[in-house]
Amino acid sequence: MIRFKSTRGGCRPVGAAEALLAGLAPDGGLYIPERLPRLEAAALDPRLSFPRRAALALAPFFEGDPLEGEIGRLCEEAFDFPLPLAAPEGESARLRVLELFHGPTAAFKDFGARFLARAMERLESLAADPATASSGGEALPASGAARRGGPVTILVATSGDTGGAVAAAFHRRPGLAVRVLFPQGGVSPRQKRQLTCWGENVSSYELRGSFDDCQRLVKAAFRDESLARRYRLSSANSINLGRLLPQMAYYIHATALYQAALGAVPSLIIPSGNLGNALGAFWARAMGAPIDRIVMASNANRALPDYLEEGAYRPRPSVPTIANAMDVGDPSNMERLLALCPDIKALRAGAAAYAVGDEELRAQIKRRWERSGYLICPHTAAADRVYEERLAGRPAIVVATAHPAKFETVVEPLIGSALSVPPALQVLLDAPSVYETIAPELSALFPD
Ligand SMILES: *Cc1c(COP(=O)(O)O)cnc(C)c1O
Repeated sequence: MIRFKSTRGGCRPVGAAEALLAGLAPDGGLYIPERLPRLEAAALDPRLSFPRRAALALAPFFEGDPLEGEIGRLCEEAFDFPLPLAAPEGESARLRVLELFHGPTAAFKDFGARFLARAMERLESLAADPATASSGGEALPASGAARRGGPVTILVATSGDTGGAVAAAFHRRPGLAVRVLFPQGGVSPRQKRQLTCWGENVSSYELRGSFDDCQRLVKAAFRDESLARRYRLSSANSINLGRLLPQMAYYIHATALYQAALGAVPSLIIPSGNLGNALGAFWARAMGAPIDRIVMASNANRALPDYLEEGAYRPRPSVPTIANAMDVGDPSNMERLLALCPDIKALRAGAAAYAVGDEELRAQIKRRWERSGYLICPHTAAADRVYEERLAGRPAIVVATAHPAKFETVVEPLIGSALSVPPALQVLLDAPSVYETIAPELSALFPD
């Protein structure tokens, strides 16, 4: 059975369910698997649907865990939307684009958030019914607050896509509640609609402050002992293991299909910020998925490209760009990457990272539209640009992380026409907004 240890080595290894409920390890590190299982040949069969393949790839991580036996159903329920591998016209026959934006909030974060929400819901119902809990796998984590009353309350600080994906995934899930915090004036009008259209078990708070204030407040809530007695607080941010595992699965899927169709092993080019998405690719490759190089595309926030070039990691403040979901100066999953690849030479042998500035992003969106009639979002444009500059003509998959219609204020002026919004997204944008504007203080977030 696979256990998960902290990147900082300061606590005992735990099973998947416990890692997933805890989010962060107790020593402040991130959970990583003690070992990565080898993919069985069946998991690379090109005929498999994505939910089936995801279940096969994820099963070894849940052996002996309370969720063992549930993974197949969780994957079928969480991944009930398309996952196309597109071939843009007028381009090398060896280029494919992996479209990760067909979920309810039109960004790749739907995969991880939907799997995590269903896994947490399942763990809650198992904990509520000890008879079922003891019938399969290990006992539930005793330290978990599962037996105290009231829902588990997920706190999310967001500057864009994460909050929407988490709210959508947890909306109406029994036993779970969400509080979304976003900075006043810090999200686009469409993003704000996606953060505030929920109600019921999802509450949205516009903070009079910055994104950093939102994060500070969430951290303060987790440290507050009186809140811990009254609420069962948990997190669903991008460092949660329950979000990384599904991100590993779609790379196994895409590269298995690519290899079967084109007879070659592709490189992956991944728009990157906090490195959660890219980390899924590193794990997939270590498990035996047919992946050549892993190429990370950053915007003007160059912490990662500079690390690969200089060999010394220098975190720094983030700078704003038009690919705002990647405006990260100190990637939260860097610890996991360093744990997996401590040797910079080995990292360079199998991976690369390049920064792309705003002007190049704009030019790339325009060029791709003119050449292929294919629209990309500003984040995807970073990967597409790196493909064109560094890998053109080679076997490659460009990873498309969001639907371009989410970034209409950037994309529409470049192509000179209005974008049509996917129907599922339009439903969210049309729903009434409900939120509270509060001061960046704990007493405002938890007035009771
Ligand atoms: C979150 C996000 C990214 C960055 O992903 P990381 O896992 O943080 O590297 C890129 N593109 C879009 C559209 C996103 O929402």
